[in-house]
Amino acid sequence: MSTPEALVNRPHGGIQPSEAASREAPMHTFHATEALSEADRLMTVCNSCRYCEGLCAVFPAMEMRRSFADGDLNYLANLCHACGACYVDCQFSPPHEFNVNVPRVFAKVRNDSYRMYVWPRALAPLFERNGLAISLITAVSVGLFFFGLMAINDPAVMFGVQTGPGAFYRILSHNAMAAIFGAAFFYAVGALIMGFRLFWRDIGETRATLTNHVSVWRAMRDAMTLRYLDGGGPGCVNEDERPTDRRRLYHHLTFYGFLLCLASTTTATFYHYIVDHPAPYAWYDLPVVLGTLGGIGLLVGPAGLLWAKAKRDPALRDENGRGMEHAFTVMLFLVSLTGMLLLVLRATPAMGTLLALHMGFVFGFFVTMPYSKFVHGIYRFGALVRYAKERRALHEPTPSKARALGIPSSTAGR
Ligand code: SF4
Ligand code: SF4
Repeated sequence: MSTPEALVNRPHGGIQPSEAASREAPMHTFHATEALSEADRLMTVCNSCRYCEGLCAVFPAMEMRRSFADGDLNYLANLCHACGACYVDCQFSPPHEFNVNVPRVFAKVRNDSYRMYVWPRALAPLFERNGLAISLITAVSVGLFFFGLMAINDPAVMFGVQTGPGAFYRILSHNAMAAIFGAAFFYAVGALIMGFRLFWRDIGETRATLTNHVSVWRAMRDAMTLRYLDGGGPGCVNEDERPTDRRRLYHHLTFYGFLLCLASTTTATFYHYIVDHPAPYAWYDLPVVLGTLGGIGLLVGPAGLLWAKAKRDPALRDENGRGMEHAFTVMLFLVSLTGMLLLVLRATPAMGTLLALHMGFVFGFFVTMPYSKFVHGIYRFGALVRYAKERRALHEPTPSKARALGIPSSTAGR
């Protein structure tokens, strides 16, 4: 029986059905999970075939390797944008006996990797039944804010009409808000950085790569445009084999909506502390304009993503990851919905209730950021930085350059 290395070294297209992708074939590397073993098998088959090399970054990155350790597979899986193109284009996808389904297997590897890199390790079980965990944490957060604010406020304040400068802070002082949300946000950022460090080390990267501004800039450009969600040009596939750009559009609306909301909060903090202009703001003030645009993006984007997920071909999904994806997307939608309702109804008796609900969802979102689907953006960005570095080495293949970038010289010139 041929070894996987022998298969990889064959001329293009040299796979033999009887030997190449046998699922019973012994693995040349021991892997931590079944999904990683299966990903190794698929990458060995794909490395012999290479039909999909123009579709995304995964296949060129795969071609730089002859064997696949766990770190390599976690890198490739997080580089995959789940566009589905390589599944519909593959002549070896089910029912073919090779059973090649890269999007599904990489989705499993990705979801497992979130649990592997979580910080602190004791919270890894939160990724086991993530949908339930996120829902419970958020429900507790919303309950605590609602009943907590009812307990500390006179009902006439909580359920009365509050208008004018500082209206929100009659329900909860600005200092208390800043302390609660600042602590939650900085904890989340710290936990995300620690998780990223584990990922970075596991895929064999060093800090030097992150200080290479060319690689980081190219990765940012690829991430901001979702370059690899285009299925090689025509768009990604979802419910059928017809490619469209809908998922990319919904993802953009969600991502940029989130950034605009963040910009709105930052501007409001500047107004409050630097120019002594407390909320609520008029509809034409910058925090409201940014927040309204971001809020619309965070309503339409997550709603579209949920609709696309509901229709997605089950063959492309990792069923175990559905709860996590839904919980995160619904959470974003509810953060935005309560924020928009608060904006519209802030001069009515509903303001106190909506403020409590909105703060409950925002707090729940912050504390679960390192334990939710949010992490996919962090690891994918890291994978894009690494790929940008490898791509540069590939196109500037001098041995000294390759050594400086940490790429094995045997792969640098291909
Ligand atoms: S997904 Fe299929 S067609 Fe594409 S490279 Fe792999 S084996 Fe070849
Ligand atoms: S699903 Fe799309 S992004 Fe992922 S490996 Fe296949 S073609 Fe590349």
